[in-house]
Amino acid sequence: MARSEKTSSGSEAAPGSARVVVGLGANLGDPRATLAAAVEALRALAVPGTDFALSSFWRSAPVEAAGPDFRNAVAAFDTVLAPHALLDALQAIEQRFGRERPYRNAPRTLDLDVLLYGVRGSDGGLVRADDRLVLPHPRAHVRAFVLEPLAQVWPAGSLPGRGSVIALRDAVRAAGEQRLERLED
Ligand code: ADP
Ligand code: MG
Repeated sequence: MARSEKTSSGSEAAPGSARVVVGLGANLGDPRATLAAAVEALRALAVPGTDFALSSFWRSAPVEAAGPDFRNAVAAFDTVLAPHALLDALQAIEQRFGRERPYRNAPRTLDLDVLLYGVRGSDGGLVRADDRLVLPHPRAHVRAFVLEPLAQVWPAGSLPGRGSVIALRDAVRAAGEQRLERLED
């Protein structure tokens, strides 16, 4: 029998779906408005009635990238989309916001990354790599702008082969090399 009760962050996904964690970033145009609109677009990918966990919005200095400060957030939700279908959907949303890819790490109106796919409990889900999709996202474990919001939505979590979300967050905090500020909720 299908269960209809809400799931909580990091718990089992609804039957037939996977719990995923998506990273959002924007640093051109009106980044706050772009993030807010992108969150609504992500909600449309989630299984209705299940928990959609959203971090605070954060401001970060560009890492290996040019341009103004980024706004960042992380969302966790249940979806019936398979990994590549989810990536397709995220790239379609990026296109809707006018993203161009003139060169690697160029400033962008919106960047949506699949950070984790198929998380359960404290388990970070799928570990796999092909030409289009690497899971977990290959730089998630070293980026303060991922780890701080991730710790808000999934504090019990861990990244496969990397350690707990909290320990990884504490390590980037201790290193103190990435400027990051939590914005008002
Ligand atoms: P980045 O997000 O690394 O700054 P892009 O958004 O331009 O750069 O992504 C470049 C490519 O990374 C995409 O075309 C996509 O196929 C690939 N990619 C590999 N793994 C992932 C992932 N987990 N999430 C999003 N894109 C990924
Ligand atoms: Mg990306």
